[in-house]
Amino acid sequence: MQQNVCWSPAILNSFATCPQRFYRTQVLCDTKNLPSAAADYSNQFHELLGQALVGNPFPKRFARFQRVVDIVRGLPGKHLVCKTLCVDRQMKPCSLDKAWVKTTIDCVVANGREAVLFFWKTGQKEPSDASKLSAAIYFCLNHESVTIHVRTFWLRAGVVEKETFTRDQLPELWRTFVPAYRRLLEAHETGVWKATPCGFCKKYCEVKDCRFNGV
Ligand code: SF4
Repeated sequence: MQQNVCWSPAILNSFATCPQRFYRTQVLCDTKNLPSAAADYSNQFHELLGQALVGNPFPKRFARFQRVVDIVRGLPGKHLVCKTLCVDRQMKPCSLDKAWVKTTIDCVVANGREAVLFFWKTGQKEPSDASKLSAAIYFCLNHESVTIHVRTFWLRAGVVEKETFTRDQLPELWRTFVPAYRRLLEAHETGVWKATPCGFCKKYCEVKDCRFNGV
Protein backbone atom coordinates (compact mmCIF):
# COMPACT_ATOMS: atom_id res chain seq x y z
CA MET A 1 0.00 0.00 0.00
CA GLN A 2 1.25 3.47 -0.86
CA GLN A 3 2.40 5.44 2.16
CA ASN A 4 0.22 8.41 3.09
CA VAL A 5 2.74 11.22 2.73
CA CYS A 6 1.05 14.15 4.40
CA TRP A 7 1.87 17.62 3.17
CA SER A 8 1.15 21.28 3.73
CA PRO A 9 2.69 24.52 2.43
CA ALA A 10 5.09 24.55 5.40
CA ILE A 11 6.16 20.95 4.69
CA LEU A 12 6.77 21.58 0.98
CA ASN A 13 8.65 24.76 1.78
CA SER A 14 10.86 23.13 4.40
CA PHE A 15 11.58 20.18 2.08
CA ALA A 16 12.42 22.50 -0.83
CA THR A 17 14.83 24.57 1.28
CA CYS A 18 16.93 21.56 2.28
CA PRO A 19 15.61 17.98 1.94
CA GLN A 20 18.25 16.65 4.35
CA ARG A 21 17.34 19.08 7.12
CA PHE A 22 13.64 18.36 6.55
CA TYR A 23 14.30 14.61 6.73
CA ARG A 24 16.31 14.77 9.93
CA THR A 25 13.98 17.15 11.77
CA GLN A 26 10.57 16.07 10.47
CA VAL A 27 10.76 12.51 9.11
CA LEU A 28 13.52 10.70 11.00
CA CYS A 29 13.16 13.13 13.91
CA ASP A 30 16.60 12.34 15.31
CA THR A 31 17.25 16.04 15.77
CA LYS A 32 14.88 18.77 16.87
CA ASN A 33 14.23 22.14 15.26
CA LEU A 34 16.15 24.77 17.24
CA PRO A 35 14.00 27.39 18.93
CA SER A 36 14.29 30.78 17.29
CA ALA A 37 13.28 34.27 18.38
CA ALA A 38 11.18 34.65 15.21
CA ALA A 39 9.28 31.40 15.81
CA ASP A 40 8.76 32.28 19.49
CA TYR A 41 7.36 35.68 18.53
CA SER A 42 5.07 34.15 15.93
CA ASN A 43 3.77 31.53 18.38
CA GLN A 44 3.18 34.13 21.05
CA PHE A 45 1.43 36.47 18.61
CA HIS A 46 -0.82 33.75 17.23
CA GLU A 47 -1.80 32.56 20.68
CA LEU A 48 -2.90 36.08 21.59
CA LEU A 49 -4.52 36.55 18.16
CA GLY A 50 -6.65 33.46 18.77
CA GLN A 51 -7.77 35.00 22.05
CA ALA A 52 -8.44 38.40 20.47
CA LEU A 53 -10.53 36.82 17.72
CA VAL A 54 -12.90 35.38 20.33
CA GLY A 55 -13.25 38.62 22.26
CA ASN A 56 -10.28 38.84 24.63
CA PRO A 57 -8.42 41.98 23.49
CA PHE A 58 -4.69 41.97 22.84
CA PRO A 59 -2.48 43.05 25.75
CA LYS A 60 -0.95 46.53 25.53
CA ARG A 61 2.21 45.55 23.65
CA PHE A 62 0.15 44.13 20.77
CA ALA A 63 -2.68 46.67 21.03
CA ARG A 64 -1.84 48.13 17.61
CA PHE A 65 -3.24 44.97 16.01
CA GLN A 66 -6.63 45.20 17.75
CA ARG A 67 -8.35 47.47 15.20
CA VAL A 68 -8.11 44.93 12.37
CA VAL A 69 -9.26 42.13 14.65
CA ASP A 70 -12.29 44.22 15.61
CA ILE A 71 -13.14 44.75 11.93
CA VAL A 72 -12.87 41.01 11.25
CA ARG A 73 -14.99 40.20 14.30
CA GLY A 74 -17.66 42.58 13.05
CA LEU A 75 -18.07 40.85 9.68
CA PRO A 76 -21.40 39.09 9.17
CA GLY A 77 -21.30 35.29 8.85
CA LYS A 78 -20.14 32.22 10.67
CA HIS A 79 -16.71 32.65 12.28
CA LEU A 80 -14.14 29.92 12.81
CA VAL A 81 -10.93 30.74 14.65
CA CYS A 82 -7.51 29.06 14.44
CA LYS A 83 -8.66 26.06 12.52
CA THR A 84 -6.59 23.29 10.96
CA LEU A 85 -8.41 22.03 7.87
CA CYS A 86 -7.52 18.74 6.24
CA VAL A 87 -8.70 16.24 3.66
CA ASP A 88 -7.73 12.69 2.78
CA ARG A 89 -6.49 11.46 -0.62
CA GLN A 90 -10.09 11.40 -1.91
CA MET A 91 -10.39 15.10 -0.94
CA LYS A 92 -12.89 14.16 1.76
CA PRO A 93 -13.02 15.44 5.35
CA CYS A 94 -10.95 13.36 7.76
CA SER A 95 -9.32 13.52 11.17
CA LEU A 96 -5.90 15.13 11.44
CA ASP A 97 -4.12 11.81 11.94
CA LYS A 98 -5.51 10.58 8.59
CA ALA A 99 -4.81 13.84 6.73
CA TRP A 100 -3.25 13.73 3.30
CA VAL A 101 -3.02 17.51 3.09
CA LYS A 102 -3.61 20.16 5.74
CA THR A 103 -3.53 23.87 6.37
CA THR A 104 -4.06 26.11 9.38
CA ILE A 105 -6.18 29.21 8.99
CA ASP A 106 -6.22 32.02 11.55
CA CYS A 107 -9.85 32.91 10.91
CA VAL A 108 -12.63 32.04 8.46
CA VAL A 109 -15.78 34.08 7.99
CA ALA A 110 -18.31 32.16 5.88
CA ASN A 111 -21.39 33.88 4.55
CA GLY A 112 -23.51 31.87 2.13
CA ARG A 113 -21.67 31.23 -1.12
CA GLU A 114 -18.70 33.38 -0.09
CA ALA A 115 -16.02 32.92 2.53
CA VAL A 116 -13.07 35.01 3.64
CA LEU A 117 -9.93 33.30 4.94
CA PHE A 118 -7.67 35.48 7.10
CA PHE A 119 -3.99 35.02 7.84
CA TRP A 120 -1.67 37.11 9.97
CA LYS A 121 2.06 36.73 9.18
CA THR A 122 4.83 37.95 11.46
CA GLY A 123 7.77 37.07 9.17
CA GLN A 124 9.23 38.69 6.06
CA LYS A 125 6.79 39.08 3.19
CA GLU A 126 7.59 36.40 0.65
CA PRO A 127 5.89 34.73 -2.31
CA SER A 128 3.79 31.81 -1.16
CA ASP A 129 1.16 29.44 -2.54
CA ALA A 130 -0.28 28.80 0.92
CA SER A 131 -3.43 30.81 0.17
CA LYS A 132 -4.12 28.66 -2.90
CA LEU A 133 -3.89 25.48 -0.88
CA SER A 134 -6.10 26.84 1.88
CA ALA A 135 -8.70 27.87 -0.70
CA ALA A 136 -8.54 24.43 -2.38
CA ILE A 137 -9.03 22.58 0.90
CA TYR A 138 -11.82 24.92 1.93
CA PHE A 139 -13.65 24.35 -1.38
CA CYS A 140 -13.41 20.58 -0.83
CA LEU A 141 -14.85 20.84 2.67
CA ASN A 142 -17.56 23.40 1.97
CA HIS A 143 -19.49 22.57 -1.14
CA GLU A 144 -21.75 25.61 -0.92
CA SER A 145 -18.78 28.00 -1.22
CA VAL A 146 -18.32 29.40 -4.70
CA THR A 147 -15.99 32.31 -4.02
CA ILE A 148 -13.18 32.50 -1.51
CA HIS A 149 -11.40 35.71 -0.64
CA VAL A 150 -8.06 35.47 1.11
CA ARG A 151 -6.67 38.34 3.17
CA THR A 152 -3.10 38.04 4.41
CA PHE A 153 -1.84 40.66 6.83
CA TRP A 154 1.95 40.94 6.56
CA LEU A 155 2.57 42.71 9.84
CA ARG A 156 6.24 43.54 9.36
CA ALA A 157 5.73 45.04 5.91
CA GLY A 158 2.42 46.66 6.88
CA VAL A 159 0.81 45.22 3.76
CA VAL A 160 -2.49 43.42 3.18
CA GLU A 161 -2.39 40.91 0.34
CA LYS A 162 -5.77 40.31 -1.28
CA GLU A 163 -6.63 37.31 -3.43
CA THR A 164 -9.88 35.83 -4.70
CA PHE A 165 -10.50 32.30 -5.97
CA THR A 166 -13.60 30.78 -7.52
CA ARG A 167 -14.69 27.15 -7.47
CA ASP A 168 -14.01 26.68 -11.18
CA GLN A 169 -10.31 27.27 -10.41
CA LEU A 170 -10.15 24.25 -8.10
CA PRO A 171 -8.31 21.88 -10.51
CA GLU A 172 -5.81 24.61 -11.30
CA LEU A 173 -5.26 25.31 -7.59
CA TRP A 174 -4.39 21.64 -6.96
CA ARG A 175 -2.14 21.52 -10.03
CA THR A 176 0.02 24.27 -8.50
CA PHE A 177 1.38 21.76 -6.01
CA VAL A 178 1.92 18.72 -8.22
CA PRO A 179 5.63 19.25 -9.05
CA ALA A 180 6.62 20.03 -5.44
CA TYR A 181 4.60 17.13 -4.03
CA ARG A 182 6.11 14.74 -6.59
CA ARG A 183 9.61 15.71 -5.44
CA LEU A 184 8.62 15.04 -1.82
CA LEU A 185 7.11 11.67 -2.72
CA GLU A 186 10.18 10.71 -4.70
CA ALA A 187 12.42 11.42 -1.71
CA HIS A 188 10.21 9.23 0.49
CA GLU A 189 10.28 6.45 -2.12
CA THR A 190 13.99 6.54 -2.93
CA GLY A 191 15.30 7.52 0.50
CA VAL A 192 17.45 10.22 -1.11
CA TRP A 193 17.32 13.44 0.92
CA LYS A 194 19.84 15.77 -0.61
CA ALA A 195 21.79 18.16 1.63
CA THR A 196 21.26 21.52 -0.01
CA PRO A 197 23.32 24.47 1.23
CA CYS A 198 21.09 27.40 2.18
CA GLY A 199 20.74 30.22 4.68
CA PHE A 200 20.44 27.80 7.61
CA CYS A 201 23.85 26.10 7.23
CA LYS A 202 26.14 28.65 8.84
CA LYS A 203 24.36 29.27 12.14
CA TYR A 204 20.84 27.92 12.24
CA CYS A 205 20.87 24.26 11.20
CA GLU A 206 20.38 21.54 13.79
CA VAL A 207 21.99 18.81 11.65
CA LYS A 208 25.46 19.03 13.14
CA ASP A 209 26.88 16.04 11.28
CA CYS A 210 26.13 17.52 7.84
CA ARG A 211 29.28 18.50 5.94
CA PHE A 212 27.81 21.92 5.19
CA ASN A 213 26.99 22.75 8.81
CA GLY A 214 28.75 25.91 9.96
CA VAL A 215 30.00 26.68 6.46
S1 SF4 B 1 23.79 22.17 7.18
FE1 SF4 B 1 22.78 23.08 5.42
S2 SF4 B 1 22.88 21.49 3.84
FE2 SF4 B 1 23.27 20.50 5.79
S3 SF4 B 1 21.31 19.76 6.47
FE3 SF4 B 1 21.60 21.76 7.38
S4 SF4 B 1 20.61 23.19 5.98
FE4 SF4 B 1 20.92 21.27 4.89
